[in-house]
Amino acid sequence: MSESAFSRQPSIRLLPDPLVSQIAAGEVVERPASVLKELLENALDAGATSIHAQIEEGGVRLIRVTDNGCGIVRDELALALTRHATSKIASLGDLERVATLGFRGEALASAASVARLTLTSRAALDGGHAWRLRAESGASPEPAALEKGTIVEIRDLYYNTPARRKFLKSGATEFAHCAEAFRRIALAHPGVAFALSNNGRENTRLPATDFSGRAGAVLGEEFLASARAVDTGSSAETAAPLRVFGYCAPSAHARARGDLQYCYVNGRFVRDRLLGHALREAYRDMLHGGRYPAYCLFLEIDPAAVDVNVHPSKTEVRFREARAVHQFVFHAVQRALSASRNALETRPSPGNIPPSIPAWSHPVAHQKRLDLNSQRATRAYYDFARTAYSQSAAQSGAPGAASEEGAENGETAPPLGYALAQLHGVYILAQNARGLVIVDMHAAHERIVYEKLKSAIDARQANRQTLLIPAVFSVTPTEAAIVEEHAETLCAFGFDVGLAGASRIIVRAVPEILRTADPEELVRDVLDELNEHGVSGAVTARRNAFLSRMACHGAVRAHRQLTLPEMNALLRQMETTERADQCNHGRPTWTELPIGEFDKLFLRGR
Ligand code: ADP
Ligand code: MG
Repeated sequence: MSESAFSRQPSIRLLPDPLVSQIAAGEVVERPASVLKELLENALDAGATSIHAQIEEGGVRLIRVTDNGCGIVRDELALALTRHATSKIASLGDLERVATLGFRGEALASAASVARLTLTSRAALDGGHAWRLRAESGASPEPAALEKGTIVEIRDLYYNTPARRKFLKSGATEFAHCAEAFRRIALAHPGVAFALSNNGRENTRLPATDFSGRAGAVLGEEFLASARAVDTGSSAETAAPLRVFGYCAPSAHARARGDLQYCYVNGRFVRDRLLGHALREAYRDMLHGGRYPAYCLFLEIDPAAVDVNVHPSKTEVRFREARAVHQFVFHAVQRALSASRNALETRPSPGNIPPSIPAWSHPVAHQKRLDLNSQRATRAYYDFARTAYSQSAAQSGAPGAASEEGAENGETAPPLGYALAQLHGVYILAQNARGLVIVDMHAAHERIVYEKLKSAIDARQANRQTLLIPAVFSVTPTEAAIVEEHAETLCAFGFDVGLAGASRIIVRAVPEILRTADPEELVRDVLDELNEHGVSGAVTARRNAFLSRMACHGAVRAHRQLTLPEMNALLRQMETTERADQCNHGRPTWTELPIGEFDKLFLRGR
């Protein structure tokens, strides 16, 4: 917020009816963290340079935000608590180019309707002293002591809506959400000093600094050290109506979780699909499957070119020139990333393969062909082959007993044939009756592990593997809270995980099927999934997504050298696993190149 906007004491007015109806209606008091976000934004809109947030019992008992902003005059205290009363916009024109974080005039009114709210404020205009208004009392403001600014105090959240209160998580989890809301806001306002305390103890103190100082303090020096700086320059320098700046970490520093993805539009934290897509595109081909890039990026754009009034919590936006914004962000980030990429990678990528190589063996072209034309045919063939194989297996004994001499003689080989070699640590090459079989070993194994996990859990036989040496590692307060909250689920899935002090957890056992996984990575990922989606036994789709994510950890990693017997074992498992021709994410796990294709390639008549 520019200072000039506050050179005059803003006055609060009721919005005219037509404007009210144009403001998307909705809830801003979903949980304590959403209330805290609104209070912090109000303090920033008031031009505060120092803001202190105090939380007790996850915010249910108390959320208090103290600021040194412009304050509210005595006669407008009641108006501040009235729905659709705001000092920030007065007309539709203002709404179209809103520069403050708030403008809906709802937050305080909504909070006052579900909690005991007290507003204490001292505006420069009021001279002598501060005034306090207790929302429920119905009485007029009483004199109070306060140097400058405003204190908003919210006690006993949802005291009058017990059903609502039941949906809240433990105090630790709600506090973790509050702390995240606090971080998001603090990151975007480095010039403002912030403090956060929890149950009377200081949790975070952030002195006023510059952008990189704040990014280091909030996101960690490690992130800052690894990240590439992005800056397209200010609009004045480039004549472009927008600017992107911030940091993005190269792919080597990608994370198992999407927890370090901060994206802002005009200082407002957003979860925008368009920007998310532009970023994914910029990182494309650089990330290993299932990894999340880490970034903190700020987009500055003419407020008139973006609609922030799409969603009550304003985390979604709509750009007038969506395509242009997408391209701009994509190029800015890709440029920043490729600076490090060229230095690190010398191996040729698929894009470097000369075009003279026949289309089918060009990975990208071939993939397209497979997607468009041959997926159905592949599946039909596979179904047929599997039936044929299970018949011959029934005749010749157990599948594992099949002779590997068959590699010499593709005619009698099982559907996926016998392994010949491993290609670039990623693909298994095998020979079957029709030609060459190519298997993406990680994708295929992931599916096998996933199906095994599913049937083990359906049969309530999620056996545990006790770790010889328990894994102990430090976790965030959110992660610690999830361990407590989901103890039963974790146990049902075959984990033995507990807290070891306030900020460390100990993993004593993991599901037997995942015994080869890195226990720390596995458990972190599982906690992340639980945090994002929870897991409900009733919702099979959710549970399966959860197991699918776990399966990735049990699957053989690319670049692991496999022996021929290991490769053959994988092929045989694929043949007996349901849906083995697609990985958990729907990509094909194998394909086949008939010998005829090779003949054509070498102009060989048969
Ligand atoms: P909005 O922020 O959308 O205007 P709110 O319900 O959050 O609506 O706040 C209503 C009004 O109360 C604001 O427009 C502002 O004038 C005043 N206000 C709220 N919090 C503060 C604060 N911390 N300092 C100064 N004024 C405030
Ligand atoms: Mg507000």
